[in-house]
Amino acid sequence: MSLSADILRLVLGMIVGMVLPRLPLLFFTRFLNMERELPPHPDPVPISVPLVQRLLLMRRVHLMCWVTALFPIALGLWILQNSPEPFALGMVAGVSWFAITRVVPEDIEQGLGILPLSMIKSVNNLREPETDCCEKPELYWEVRAIRCKNCRHVAMDLPRPDLGRMRSDGRLRGSLRILLTDGRSVFPTAGTSIISKGTELFSQVAEEE
Ligand SMILES: [Zn+2]
Repeated sequence: MSLSADILRLVLGMIVGMVLPRLPLLFFTRFLNMERELPPHPDPVPISVPLVQRLLLMRRVHLMCWVTALFPIALGLWILQNSPEPFALGMVAGVSWFAITRVVPEDIEQGLGILPLSMIKSVNNLREPETDCCEKPELYWEVRAIRCKNCRHVAMDLPRPDLGRMRSDGRLRGSLRILLTDGRSVFPTAGTSIISKGTELFSQVAEEE
């Protein structure tokens, strides 16, 4: 067989290996009509019991991805034992890449996984904050942080992860985005990037003036 056909099969296998484990993330909540309790994407989500329940559900969906990852890796390894098939090799490489992106934490302080329990707990604590930011505090999880709707106080500087809502950018583009980001926010967590440090500095200067 020609080299180009082998490479094509390898790449195809890699794509299958990367997409298959993430299928629950793409379809689980989105096709089960679980939209009633949360506002539509991309609207801010109120800090409430339905949100915390959804975060816990999404955490389970992320764990489910590990189960769906078992199928392509087992199949790939089984084929490789019998014949050096480029498609199977690609599939094993794709699933391995999935595993690496999950196991290596982006920020060690935030805990492991895309939705660590510690993060869900701190969001849950915000349902009854110790101190109120203003007279009528209404906390919402916006794209970049949890803020009060009335006084714009930032209660938690954490970009909003994917909550499994039907996406406003369409099924195809939305799915592609989730595959690329793995359900994380596209925005970096505060303090992890030069850009966020820059904007922080800029806002400090603006406030002083
Ligand atoms: Zn407020």
